Amino acid sequence: MKKILITGAAGFLGSHLCDRFIKDGFHVIGMDNLITGRLNNIEHLFKLEQFEFYHHDVSKFIHIPGKLDYILHFASPASPIDYLKIPIQTLKVGSLGIHNCLGLAKAKGARLLIASTSEVYGDPSVHPQPEEYWGNVNPVGPRGVYDEAKRFQEAITMAYHTFHGLETRIVRIFNTYGPRMRLNDGRVLPAFIGQALRGEDLTIFGDGSQTRSFCYVDDLVEGIVRLLNSDYALPMNIGNPDEITISQFAEEIIKLTGTSQKVIYKDLPIDDPKQRRPEITKAREILNWEPKINREEGLKRTYAYFKKLSTAELIATEHNNFDKFIIK
Ligand code: UDP
Repeated sequence: MKKILITGAAGFLGSHLCDRFIKDGFHVIGMDNLITGRLNNIEHLFKLEQFEFYHHDVSKFIHIPGKLDYILHFASPASPIDYLKIPIQTLKVGSLGIHNCLGLAKAKGARLLIASTSEVYGDPSVHPQPEEYWGNVNPVGPRGVYDEAKRFQEAITMAYHTFHGLETRIVRIFNTYGPRMRLNDGRVLPAFIGQALRGEDLTIFGDGSQTRSFCYVDDLVEGIVRLLNSDYALPMNIGNPDEITISQFAEEIIKLTGTSQKVIYKDLPIDDPKQRRPEITKAREILNWEPKINREEGLKRTYAYFKKLSTAELIATEHNNFDKFIIK
């Protein structure tokens, strides 16, 4: 049985990856320090012999007994509100955390895949973003702690690949959504759906003309599995190129939820990218991958998950307000 370590296992993406690799017959070791991850996301796996969980911070030395075939490094805060609340941990997991994962991969002869991000492109001046674009990142802005950690993570991963001959893969993940997103993580989809469910107005930051391209989580997971199994070591974009403005997105959520609330406008956070759409020719050609689930279907599935949450959970997770974090 192949053995895989998934860091950030209790998070949104980590938990879906655990499910996928369990389904594919792997022995899965999930690791998480539970700062932003939640055990509810993986509690259904605890009864399985195929699954183990380590409550551990990957920024500290990692010890795994026995053999290990693969490592997926998905531990990291991953929303602007989290970077503002826990900037140092964000930097540490993307630097010390990856260094520990690389050392472990080298010691075990394991193949390592790291979660990188479209944030390496910053507020992009090239559109859509191909892998060759080097980006436009503000290192000292509020997103710098995440963007630069992820850029460093790519650099050190490539260095282990070229210098030590380690088998490495780098996925650049664009905006992804689906069940198990945290209602209060500040991201636009849980923000809008949470607001609709609580009967609040939907908060658009800026004038709503900024664009994003949303990928359903199952499509992303399929892309990651294909990349892991490929022999491609350079960064690979995985995302859905279907691009919309945030205003259009708010309209779609209003229609989906049937809320009678309206949209209200708030200040645009600093360094908020104006446009984002993945160029996915490489994924199409090398992995024979493209997204299959359109937004209508993906949003329906995601809404079904959020609707099941209790009123207590909805109130406890009131939408985070950026105002108190933003230095104007
Ligand atoms: N956004 C918004 N209202 C919210 C939360 C986010 O208009 O309540 C905007 C945000 O400013 C950004 C877009 O939605 O332009 C996507 O934000 P998210 O935090 O989901 O991801 P990212 O900016 O990292 O793509």
